[in-house]
Amino acid sequence: MAIEIPSYVSDLMKTLLNSRHECFVVGGAVRSALLCAEVHDYDLTTDALPDEMKEIFSSYRTIETGIRHGTLTVLSEGKPVEITTYRKDSTYSDHRHPDKVEFTSRLQEDCARRDFTVNALCADIDGNLYDFFEGRKDLKQKLIRCIGSADERFDEDALRILRALRFAARLGFQIEKKTSDALRRKKDLLLYISAERIRDEFTGFLNASGCAELFEEYAEVFEVIIPKLKQLNEEEKKQLFGQLKRSENDHILRLALIVLAAGSQEEIMKSLKMTNHEMKDVSNLLSLSERPLDTLSDIRRIKRDLKQDFKRYALFRYALNEKTDVGQMMNLNRMIIENGDCYSLKDLAVRGNDLKELGFCGKEISERLNQLLEDVIDSKLANEKEVLLDSLRYTKQ
Ligand code: ATP
Ligand code: MG
Repeated sequence: MAIEIPSYVSDLMKTLLNSRHECFVVGGAVRSALLCAEVHDYDLTTDALPDEMKEIFSSYRTIETGIRHGTLTVLSEGKPVEITTYRKDSTYSDHRHPDKVEFTSRLQEDCARRDFTVNALCADIDGNLYDFFEGRKDLKQKLIRCIGSADERFDEDALRILRALRFAARLGFQIEKKTSDALRRKKDLLLYISAERIRDEFTGFLNASGCAELFEEYAEVFEVIIPKLKQLNEEEKKQLFGQLKRSENDHILRLALIVLAAGSQEEIMKSLKMTNHEMKDVSNLLSLSERPLDTLSDIRRIKRDLKQDFKRYALFRYALNEKTDVGQMMNLNRMIIENGDCYSLKDLAVRGNDLKELGFCGKEISERLNQLLEDVIDSKLANEKEVLLDSLRYTKQ
């Protein structure tokens, strides 16, 4: 069986072959193609050394940020393709970086330094497969298996622990027994890994469809990266696992559930180096986690304070409590949109200046505006300028 390689990629391969070098597609692209899944990006591997690659692709637009590790990014038809010189395993004394980058001229050696058998499949320019570590067999059996000794591979780079979980969650695979035993044994090595690398893999994990089951099965591993989880009692853990199972593949929503259960939102989000934007979204969801949801006014009030997608919020409330009627929430939301209901100050029919003209000043202006908005949200007042001004005149007297 062969896979199909798009021309913008095979053009680059051809350029290397014409210069008497080897070149193969490797990793995720081959894995996804064999699983008939969408291929996002193509990684190429070659025996050409970094300086040779630069020379060969001198007429292309290139990005050299990874060149020290042997990676040149070449733009082909506007799309970036990473090309990396064959590398071999070196020693890892800090559980996260190889002590030095060593190139090799043998494809098989390059495959051997990769993490899992299903990530070490290669294809030549015609799409013919090279499978040194029975990756295809593991793909068929839906298994994530380390190449070589799992203990050693996790010792070298402990991030692979989280990568195994991310791939298993995304592909719906099991983690092979020896790999999973080693993963549990070596979990504390994750403490050596930088927060940024953990964040990227953990975010990928939380966006994957198998996340909830694996989070439960490997809870002890996640307790290493979020120590607060250790403080949950059995009942609280069970509740969190249930909530995650009801949640969508959305890392913000899932982080909100985890942080709500574990407490210390700031601490957890900061230790995971989440962006300010992610922090804001999570705390915004948490601040609205107990709002009533029954009436149009309830939903208008939530929409006033919600700074993100309403559907996400509805699904968050459903994850928290399976009795939440998401259908009704979405209906009420639709009615508000269709009726053009006012739920924010910017849609209110009066402005600060209108209040100034009536003689209000300072802090009073914003207090009054907010009170008017409350009354409009509660349908006590119509959102019409005269109605609102009248009510102000009445209360001013
Ligand atoms: P994705 O679709 O998530 O990008 P991918 O397989 O392309 O999947 P990447 O993280 O982009 O995953 O890595 C590309 C390839 O590099 C992997 O398939 C694997 O062969 C290798 N690789 C990446 N990280 C490691 C690591 N920490 N240890 C060993 N090999 C790795
Ligand atoms: Mg990739």
